[in-house]
Amino acid sequence: MPLPDVDVRVRPALAGFEPYDPAFSPCKVNLSANENTHALPRAVREGIAAALVRTPLNRYPDPLANELRDELAAWHGVARENVMVGNGGDEVLFNLLFAFGGQGRRLVVAPPCFEEYKNFAKMCETEVVEVWRDEQSFALDEDALVRAASDAALVMLTSPNNPTGDLVDPALVRRLLDETDALVMLDEAYIEFADASASLVPWIRENPRLMILRTLSKAFALAGLRCGYLIADRSVVDVLAAIRQIYSEDVLAQAVATEAVRSRAEFAPVVAEIVAERGRLVEEFDRLPGVTQWPSSANFILVRLPHAAEVRARLRDEFSILVRDFSYAPGLSDCMRITVGTREENDKLLRALHRISEGE
Ligand SMILES: *Cc1c(COP(=O)(O)O)cnc(C)c1O
Repeated sequence: MPLPDVDVRVRPALAGFEPYDPAFSPCKVNLSANENTHALPRAVREGIAAALVRTPLNRYPDPLANELRDELAAWHGVARENVMVGNGGDEVLFNLLFAFGGQGRRLVVAPPCFEEYKNFAKMCETEVVEVWRDEQSFALDEDALVRAASDAALVMLTSPNNPTGDLVDPALVRRLLDETDALVMLDEAYIEFADASASLVPWIRENPRLMILRTLSKAFALAGLRCGYLIADRSVVDVLAAIRQIYSEDVLAQAVATEAVRSRAEFAPVVAEIVAERGRLVEEFDRLPGVTQWPSSANFILVRLPHAAEVRARLRDEFSILVRDFSYAPGLSDCMRITVGTREENDKLLRALHRISEGE
């Protein structure tokens, strides 16, 4: 018999949340979740296999994942003390709000953006201030963001943004740091697909209120592993280190992540291939009647087209291709987000879209 008053017993800030369940229909081609759909490079796969075999499971993990932090720090030219890892970027985002949010504090976001910022903020009783992007261009309203940030604890911006694909102008980050006192988190989950100079990680040294989120879920093709990390001033990292779930990053995840980061050069050709395919998809989408798209620096493209929800359903049901429907989301009517897949997957997608648009 179910507990009848569970809604009353649950902590008020947590009432009404639904489990996250994307309810993926099994499809041959899944371009819905911005994963890297390429197989791991062979050298990486072999290195990971060896790392897994030599990892003992009877001992607790290193709670601070120091070997992995050292590898990440060496890559990014920072110190171990500037890096904190988490069970996916999601855990790091939650911990940021757990640590720096709370009653009487505000988080500023710029939707359409990653939904989790808002969800975690609400769970942590943090007021969310939404500064909506331009309805047509999805450009950020920079003045409004600076104004909103002036009495906020935290600002979370995404560069490149999910789902719109655009980078944040560094000049806006500069203004937020100079003209407000807020902590500024720049989510660079997709930055490997942008120009090499686009990351603001080098700014960390001079700007203790700037924090950069990264993940191994996208370019590194390790979404199932659950490993993300924050690069920030050591005082921020110290706080996160103190409040996190102590063993959230398990021994297997630490071993695999360390190996993958060590072999990061192996991923460069895969990322280059995805970027090239993104360019090809953009050109091909331009040939489809009625399609609007926005320039993307990530491994996905946001498109708007007539009857997007129906097109998505037909892609799924008739062609076994899954893309992400955003047509129901505020500000994103008739939009879908398409992950850039392998060349073969993209060909299948393009053939299907042509057939649908020709009314077959
Ligand atoms: C995918 C993603 C993340 C992190 O995902 P994890 O798998 O939890 O590391 C963070 N921010 C954005 C915008 C993303 O799209």
